[in-house]
This record gives sequence, C-alpha cells and structure tokens, in this order.
Amino acid sequence: QEKEQQQKSQKRQKPMEIAGYVGFANLPNQVHRKAVLRGFEFTLMVVGASGLGKSTLINSMFLADIYNAEQYPGPTLRKKKTIEVEATKVMLKENGVNLTLTVVDTPGFGDAVDNSNCWLPILEYVDSKYEEYLTAESQVYRKTISDNRVHCCLYFIAPSGHGLRPLDIACMQSLSEKVNLVPVIAKADTMTLDELHLFKKQIRNEIAQHKIKTYDFPATLEDDAEESKDTQNLRNRVPFAVVGANTIIELDGKKVRGRRYPWGLVEIENLTHCDFIALRNMVIRTHLQNLKDVTNNVHYENYRCRKLSELGLVDSKARLSNKNPLTQMEESKREHEQKMKKMEAEMEQIFDMKVKEKIQKLKDSELEMARRHEECKKALELEIHELDNKRREFEREKKEWEDVNHVSLEDLRRQSLGTNNS
Ligand code: GDP
Repeated sequence: QEKEQQQKSQKRQKPMEIAGYVGFANLPNQVHRKAVLRGFEFTLMVVGASGLGKSTLINSMFLADIYNAEQYPGPTLRKKKTIEVEATKVMLKENGVNLTLTVVDTPGFGDAVDNSNCWLPILEYVDSKYEEYLTAESQVYRKTISDNRVHCCLYFIAPSGHGLRPLDIACMQSLSEKVNLVPVIAKADTMTLDELHLFKKQIRNEIAQHKIKTYDFPATLEDDAEESKDTQNLRNRVPFAVVGANTIIELDGKKVRGRRYPWGLVEIENLTHCDFIALRNMVIRTHLQNLKDVTNNVHYENYRCRKLSELGLVDSKARLSNKNPLTQMEESKREHEQKMKKMEAEMEQIFDMKVKEKIQKLKDSELEMARRHEECKKALELEIHELDNKRREFEREKKEWEDVNHVSLEDLRRQSLGTNNS
C-alpha cells in the first residue's frame, strides 16, 4: 500500500512540460547574477607545526595574488613562538567573480616544550566566529551579515612516516567536532611513492580508530555516475599528500609551478606527483559551497544548539533526542506558552476566589452594620418612649400640685422674674 501511495505521489509530482516560453527558466541566471554581484566569502584555516609549508601551500593554492609579505609573512618574517591565531583577509577576483578569502594561520602551534591544550586558542577562535555570527543573526537589522566562520581547516601532518602524534590526534579530534577538517600530508615530496602509500594507509586507520570525523565530501551531482566516481577517487586520496611551491619553472617550453631538485622536478599541479591539484579543486572549484553549507547546517547549528542549551532555552530531553535545534526552540516556545496559559488560568481562578471572598466579607459587614443600626434605633426609640412617659408623669404631677395650691407655676415664675428685675 505504501509503495502504491509513493508511486501515486511520484506520478503527481512529475513536472508538467509547458507549451511555450514563460521565462522562469531564467531563474538560475538571476540567482547567478545576484551571487556574482554580492561576491563570495570563504575562510580557510591552516593548522600544523611551523615549517610544514602552510603559507607556501596557501600561496600556491590561490596563486601569486594572495602572496603579500606584509599581509602573510613567510617563514623568515615570523618571530612569534607562542601560539596565536592570525587572520588575513584578501580580496581575490577571477573572471569577474569576487572572493573575499580569509586565511587563518596558527603560528607557533606545537612549538612549545609542553604542548598540552595548545589547540585551545584555535577552538576559541572558531567558537568566537560562530558567536559573532549568532550575535549578528539575533540583531533586529540583519540584512548583511558578514560570514567569518571557518569553513574549512587544513590540518598539516608532518611527513614523518610514523603516523599521527598524540598532539595530532587530540587536536584533530577536537577540531573535527567544530569545523570541516581536511587532513593533508605536508611536504609529500620528501617521501617515496611506497612510503607515501603506506603512510596514507596508516593515517586513514588511525583516523578511523580514534573516531576523528574528517570532512566527508559528497558527490556534487548525486545521480551522476561520472561524478560519484570522481568523488570516490577524491576520497581515496585522503589524506591529501601535498607539495607547495611558489616558483615557476620552465619545462619543455611550458611554465610549471614546482620544486627543482638535483635529481628532478616536482610539478605540484601534476596529479602523478602529488595531490595538490585534487585538494585545490576540491576546496575551491567543486566543494567550496558544500563546505560552507556543512559549516552552516552542521557545525554552526551544533554551536547554536549548545549555546541555546546553556541558556536553558532548549530542554535537556530535546537535546538527547537529537532534534533539529529550530524544532527544539519551537517546542520549548510552545511549552513555555502552555505553561504561561496554565499559570494565567490559575491566577485568574485565585483572583476570582479572592474577589468572591471580599464580596462575602463586605456583605457580612453590611448586614452586621444594619443589625447594629437596627439595635441602636430600637434602643433610642425605647429611650424616647421612656422619656415621653416620664414627661407625661411630670406634667400630671405638676397639674395636681397647681390644682392643690391654686397657683400656676407659670405665674409664679413670671412674678419672680419681675421682682428680680425691679
Ligand atoms: P609554515 O611555517 O608552515 O608556514 O611553512 P612555510 O610555508 O613558511 O615553509 C617552510 C619551508 O618549507 C620553506 O623553506 C618552504 O620553501 C619549504 N616548503 C614549503 N612547502 C614545501 C614542500 O611541499 N616540500 C618541501 N620539500 N619544502 C617545502
């Protein structure tokens, strides 16, 4: 039944070819124009001990344009021995397309006697860029957010032939949780083909053994058999064995970028000599957008989720359930609203109860006052009645006395008033 339903929905979803030209086929061109106008941003981080050829490789990757002794000093100009993270921004232009490239270098990495936790400043830098982006996203005005997040990290492995050092393992493990990690074997021209083959195998085994999650590049076009074969070839090259060179050498009238030795020439752009061109194509030509997408959808989302959990916005249960952070936020928002509604209803109930109690109290005191008033009135009436009786008694006694004495008390009073006046 499910299959039938799927088939039905597939039939329904089949696009309908329209008879003429309406114009929406031009949409990709509009998107392309918009993207070209806006330009692209990309941040590449290089991590590895000094002298492994990081700056040489970066310069080779982006050709001579990036090389600027002031902006990106070569080995002789570097003085620092403590680990520091340095970001260099350059604007590159190719066929009218602008790319703002930020190269993040970590001079001094692994140079100290005690290298424990020497990768922490690198992780802090990566986090600080996520934090910057998160803050920018939370602003009211967030139209143009500059994306300085680290999109790719090239980790340079020394061509020792002895596998990964404990420092490499620890550093790669923590970096792979936060960025797209691409391991490269530095100065691959120092190894023979067999040594390189064995070394690569050993590194791959160690990466799997230590559960280091390196960047897993997908086929750019999923259903293209040719593409997936290319991707498989690319995967087989990991870790990329690279050679860097900034010198152009003439070879049979052809200019090649390479390193000349007494015994021969290493052409860095020759795939039989090293993996440099495969790495460059992958990072710049075929997977740059995917590196950015994975950074945004996986690493940045993880950071955001962690951050929101710290703020207590995401419930710990939701964190364990591996849900999309946005869904989690929606759920916590809904839960919060429900809680608020419940609290509101309870408050209203309490308020109603209090009002009723108050009204009852007022009614009781009103009745009490009415009762007291009635009592007072009755007492007063009784008093008036008693006084009235007394007055009548007095009047009667007065009359009796006047009758017995044949005088009027009123005349006597007047006479006494007259004598007093005279
Ligand atoms: P960083 O400190 O990692 O940036 O290393 P640099 O790029 O400054 O290179 C250190 C030295 O190694 C320089 O003398 C480079 O010419 C040399 N170098 C760079 N890349 C390679 C390479 O692929 N093979 C060899 N053999 N030497 C290299």
